[in-house]
Amino acid sequence: MTLQKKVRVRFAPSPTGYLHIGGARSALFNYLFARKHGGDFLLRIEDTDRSRFVEDALTEIYDSMRWLGLDWDEGPLKGGEYGPYTQSERLHIYSKYAEKLLESAHAYRCFCTSQRLTALRESQEKAGGLTGYDRHCRELSTQQIEQNLNDKIPFVIRLKIPADRTISFEDLIRGHIEYKSEALDDIVLMKADGFPTYHMANVVDDHEMKITHVLRGDEWITSTPRHVLLYEAFGWEAPAFAHLPVILSPDGGKLSKRKGAASVMDYKRGGFLPDALFNFLAFLGWNPGDDREKMTRDELIAAFSLEQVSPKAAVLDEKKLEWVNGLYMAETSSLSLAKEVVPMWKEKGWVSADLSEDDSYLMKVVDLMKVRSKRITELAETAIYYFVDPAEYEEKAAKKNFNPQAADRLSLLMKELEAAADFTHPKLDELFRILAESQGLKTGDFIHPVRLAISGVSFGPGLFELMEVLGKDAVLRRITRAVEFINNQK
Ligand code: GLU
Repeated sequence: MTLQKKVRVRFAPSPTGYLHIGGARSALFNYLFARKHGGDFLLRIEDTDRSRFVEDALTEIYDSMRWLGLDWDEGPLKGGEYGPYTQSERLHIYSKYAEKLLESAHAYRCFCTSQRLTALRESQEKAGGLTGYDRHCRELSTQQIEQNLNDKIPFVIRLKIPADRTISFEDLIRGHIEYKSEALDDIVLMKADGFPTYHMANVVDDHEMKITHVLRGDEWITSTPRHVLLYEAFGWEAPAFAHLPVILSPDGGKLSKRKGAASVMDYKRGGFLPDALFNFLAFLGWNPGDDREKMTRDELIAAFSLEQVSPKAAVLDEKKLEWVNGLYMAETSSLSLAKEVVPMWKEKGWVSADLSEDDSYLMKVVDLMKVRSKRITELAETAIYYFVDPAEYEEKAAKKNFNPQAADRLSLLMKELEAAADFTHPKLDELFRILAESQGLKTGDFIHPVRLAISGVSFGPGLFELMEVLGKDAVLRRITRAVEFINNQK
């Protein structure tokens, strides 16, 4: 794509709730597109629907975007040449433009009461036809309007949708789109309280803020023909439109609170890393056209293009997110992961002090566990045996590995371990090998019961590394306890 004008895109959330996956994906595609083309990424708060305003939503949106690394170039808390970037602070601008539309006869005042509109809708529904405003006030005489204004009858301002028109636009993802004007209602632009509707504020701001491309969720596509007509009424050039594919839950249904429609902050609390979520979100509807799946931010920016965005629904696959997150965890520095997990361990009472950077024990635990954890929270929870002697043993593994022979082998091994001067993993490896050979056994015959004895579970990092980290005292104490446990079972 060759672009003449400097690219300017925006993410325009309404503070009606938390920033969920769909919103974050829209923000991210706008961000990638802006960065790719050396353009500007704006954040604009569309808060003109006061009835749906949620108090904490704004902070949550800012925090979520910052956590994901979606830094905006212009917007709230940042400022910029085209501010303010919060619509409730721009009311005078919308009124001014609404006046213009009235003057040019592209819009009209509608004095219909809500009772009339409700009755109208009910009778339309009964008749089974199309519902919508019947344009009752569209042709009021100047005199009638004057009279109503003098009588202080409240009114809204509606757009005059032209008759017999085909409205079309080229969607950069979906291609050519057409609507017949008959299907469109004379939408309200300004409400009786003087607030603009979404359509009005959105179009005025996209124009005023010099937005070149509107990248937004598929659910807005039916608004676009109305917006196209509004641009036309103002005599403005419309931006390019790209409607991003819907995101479905793994079973093909709509995202719901239970199925994936979690907020960005829920993912943070769920133990995901921002870079992993960033990477994952980029693939919801887009792919680089080759087999790469794990890509850094810079790689994503370089590879991103709208041509590679599919119009087909994207499926939110949390297993894939876990897989990507695991890859990111493995390469994240142990210190930064330790900063996340140590407070969790402290809360569980497994460690008593805060993390100090030279705490080599905690660092070693993270080193061993980060490569085998899919989430930070999983790392935090599975690490219990580094801090607490196992109080019980995984049942299935105990049935298999804790038998009288195992007790004998463990006792034999303990003697060797007690005598060992060097408790490093290569030495332990050697010790196990020699012992197994001398007994005509396999090292596995020792490894499995020992793992269960010292960790309580049948999986985890390399046994010799684990033993080295736990240290001789803890290992001997735990094996002694396991032998007692086996003997008590006889
Ligand atoms: N305020 C709308 C929303 O909440 C913005 C839609 C658009 O990007 O035009 O998603």
